[in-house]
Amino acid sequence: MRANELLAVSGGRGFGSFSGLSERIESPHVVLVGGPGAGKGTVSRYLCGRYALRHLSTGDLLRREIDLATQLGRYVAPFLARGELVADHIIFDQVQAQLETLPEHTGFIFDGVPRTWEQAVWLDRELSARCSTIALAVRIEVPHDELITRAAERRVCSSAECQRSYGARSTAPRIAGICDDCRGVLVQRADDHPDVVRRRLRDSAVIEHVIAEYYERTGRLVTINAAGLSMHELKLAVARLLPSRMLASVA
Ligand code: ADP
Repeated sequence: MRANELLAVSGGRGFGSFSGLSERIESPHVVLVGGPGAGKGTVSRYLCGRYALRHLSTGDLLRREIDLATQLGRYVAPFLARGELVADHIIFDQVQAQLETLPEHTGFIFDGVPRTWEQAVWLDRELSARCSTIALAVRIEVPHDELITRAAERRVCSSAECQRSYGARSTAPRIAGICDDCRGVLVQRADDHPDVVRRRLRDSAVIEHVIAEYYERTGRLVTINAAGLSMHELKLAVARLLPSRMLASVA
């Protein structure tokens, strides 16, 4: 279903009022699906800054392990450097640890997970054991040319705790090379180099297709065509789709 169709049937009030699904469950969550640089991280940070939601980015969690040079970090570093997926069981452990640190009512924005059919099945099972569910998966479609440009321009905060990502245009930092939030130094991600980006883009097209099909089959997928949308317009478009119960609490 396309975002404008969903808003038409829901009267523009969001997914919760459209399906009634979120009324039956303890806490609804949202999955963001999209290629590298599609805006998943930026949209997540915006939503978590406005509402009492939690951003769960498996890429950030793995990069934190690498920065802290843990055993896991040393193991996964070559996978990330090559732009290859790490094994599902590593992702399960990382996500489970996050789910356990928070009250059961916390709504999550899942960014970068699930990336395989098995991860999607596992996540549904894990959440249903906690009386919660993925209410909605938002697919952010951006043309590949644009993603290649954004990856080349993207800089991220080198602080393992922050990792905020910046672009060269509307999402540029106030001071070049310095993080607005924590004053950390901005660096280019190792996997944002053009040859790795091309591989990640090729793989991400397949991943997106699989994950979109998973949520489409259960009527939970909404696609936003983000070509021509500014990052601000994209943030608002995603926020409008969130289940009303996720927006109830202001951060
Ligand atoms: P992107 O900016 O491409 O969305 P992420 O920050 O989500 O990238 O992920 C960076 C890297 O971390 C991936 O290329 C992959 O190596 C690893 N990774 C992150 N999430 C997963 C996952 N769910 N399954 C397997 N590998 C993952």
